[in-house]
Amino acid sequence: MSGAQVRREPASCGWYTAPVAELRIPFFRPSITEEDVAAVAACLRSGWLTSGPNVAAFERELADYVGARFVNVVNSCTAAMHLALRAWDIGPGDEVITTPYTFASTVTVILHAGAEPVLADIRSHDGNIDPAEVERRLSPRTKAVLPVHFAGEPCDMDAILDIARSRGLKVLEDAAHALGTKYRGRMVGSIGDAAAFSFYATKNITTGEGGALATDDEALSERVRVLTLHGMTKDAWHRYDAGGSWRYDIQELGFKDNLPDPAAALGRSQLRRAEALRARRERAARRYLEQLRDDPYLILPGFDPRNRHAWHLFVVRVRDGAPRGRDDVIRELAARGIGTSVHFIPVHFHSAFRRLGRWREGDFPVAEAFFRGAISLPLYPDMTDAEVDTVCEALREAVRGKPALAS
Ligand SMILES: *Cc1c(COP(=O)(O)O)cnc(C)c1O
Repeated sequence: MSGAQVRREPASCGWYTAPVAELRIPFFRPSITEEDVAAVAACLRSGWLTSGPNVAAFERELADYVGARFVNVVNSCTAAMHLALRAWDIGPGDEVITTPYTFASTVTVILHAGAEPVLADIRSHDGNIDPAEVERRLSPRTKAVLPVHFAGEPCDMDAILDIARSRGLKVLEDAAHALGTKYRGRMVGSIGDAAAFSFYATKNITTGEGGALATDDEALSERVRVLTLHGMTKDAWHRYDAGGSWRYDIQELGFKDNLPDPAAALGRSQLRRAEALRARRERAARRYLEQLRDDPYLILPGFDPRNRHAWHLFVVRVRDGAPRGRDDVIRELAARGIGTSVHFIPVHFHSAFRRLGRWREGDFPVAEAFFRGAISLPLYPDMTDAEVDTVCEALREAVRGKPALAS
């Protein structure tokens, strides 16, 4: 990947802070190989443009990788979460407990399903939902818990499953950051009732846009399959095959969330490198940890060594009382050609959620304090040791208010 061409930020998302080519070290660089390109080209030449053999194979390969019986590949993680809630008939009158410290769509899908999102604060060391807070927010209307594995470090799934199992609640994991994450030796995707993965451009493997739902529940997978494609009967997936029939039935009102085959071809090619890509992310993360370890002004990401981190993000926090605050540090890094991001603006800070009138600033003090210090540093498989070192040096200087040398 040359990384030389300017890639403008996707208009709808806040992940990129500047066009890639303007930065010495961008926040993110995709890892696209010639094999990826060849896989997509072969798919295009095959003539299968909508969901077809590559989607079916991607589903099987993902199921193998994450250790689930069934995988439904769809066009986003957002769609995967929405479809799971719909397939479980979670809707008006029901409550779903999730975290304010996530991308907005984790909460939006609950509202789109017609249910009530109930937010529970996070733990300060790793940004993951606090099981004690989940317990505190339970009500007779609670139907599901939707934990988010922040940055790729798994939530406390034993505690969450305990709470859920004793009350018959579903557990849907937002695993957008967690492809390849292991919780106490078990792959995310094989733990809760269902897990939703993202293959968005910046995620650990990508299909450009894409997502998947992993589950051991055949009924859930089958209903999601129907809802994914207009509510058509299962046979509709084969209506273009030799011997396929023109006849189909819309058995319920569905959505249009399927993934095109060329995207699935890219996903299959990326999935073959998932372990290698994760290992290279971990190498960069460990170098960050080592180099920033003794800095009194920074809080490093907390993680449990019994787990395997996917290292989707490396989020440091600027301590209260550091010479420079988070916003100044981000500006200073940008002036030095280093791209960063912030994960996340707490959901209840966004205007659309404020207008709902359900939450106020101050309701989730741990998440709010986490946000005030948070900076996501550049982290991607192709990052060199020298690039990590450059970011660390710039960060240490920026937080101390040392201006960049004029260039
Ligand atoms: C990226 C992301 C999503 C959304 O993923 P899409 O595939 O873009 O729908 C959801 N939750 C979290 C935590 C994310 O980071």
